[in-house]
Amino acid sequence: GEALAVSARVAPLGSRLVLLLVEDLTEARRIEAVRRDFVANVSHELKTPVGALSLLSEAVMDASEDPEAVERFAGRMQIEATRLTSLVQELIDLSRVQNDDPLEDAEPVRVDELVAEAIDRCRHQAGTKQITMAAAGAAELRVWGNRGQLAAALGNLVENAVNYSPARTRVGIAARRVSVPSGDLIEVAVTDQGIGISDKDKERIFERFYRVDPARSRQTGGTGLGLAIVKHVAASHGGEVTVWSSEGQGSTFTLRLPEAGAARDRALQHPDLD
Ligand code: ADP
Repeated sequence: GEALAVSARVAPLGSRLVLLLVEDLTEARRIEAVRRDFVANVSHELKTPVGALSLLSEAVMDASEDPEAVERFAGRMQIEATRLTSLVQELIDLSRVQNDDPLEDAEPVRVDELVAEAIDRCRHQAGTKQITMAAAGAAELRVWGNRGQLAAALGNLVENAVNYSPARTRVGIAARRVSVPSGDLIEVAVTDQGIGISDKDKERIFERFYRVDPARSRQTGGTGLGLAIVKHVAASHGGEVTVWSSEGQGSTFTLRLPEAGAARDRALQHPDLD
């Protein structure tokens, strides 16, 4: 009689345990599947330029009598090699932002410096497309975080704005302070008048290697990793990145980050006072 009573009491607990175990296994399996997909994607992305390089080098050898053809093939080899280099660099950047704790070397970072750096990075590309870049509001604002990671995040957003916009349009970068109950936030919004993103794609563009139009992305040297990096940097800084877009009209990507406040600065200057 007593054994029965005990097992009746234990049974519900047992089934909950089993359920937890099953949930754990499902989550473990999901993570494993994501990892496997990622490795498959990386392999595929690497194979494309490597395959092209190998074909082109054969073509160069076959065309050794024809200097014009050699030059043409060599030019294309250079494009593929550049693509390979930027893919490997973005993979390194992604693995850094995933593995390093950004707050280990966090410091107050001036937003106007981040904005200037991002604009600088795209100046050439914007110039050839006659895209005007305008920044506002960044003076005096400072965010709290890892300078290199923050620069990479904002740089990616501005680079995308330029890449996915037609010639003679405008890219705006607007920064402001926003008060929220948990303290002040800095918001940096990058607005373009580009091709826009459909609602369906909006949900997926932050995934690694997801591209709305792979051919177009490749043409502009895209790797499909930029927004995954931005999302990671925002989240690990306790912030977020959101997108508003209207197809054919343009997009706004908004980065929200913690402000470098007076309390944090004091802690930084006198780390042993707290
Ligand atoms: P990519 O290297 O292809 O630019 P990202 O991760 O930066 O990779 O972006 C993923 C995809 O999201 C892009 O391929 C593009 O289809 C879309 N996208 C990103 N930014 C914009 C934008 N400003 N306007 C329109 N589409 C964009």
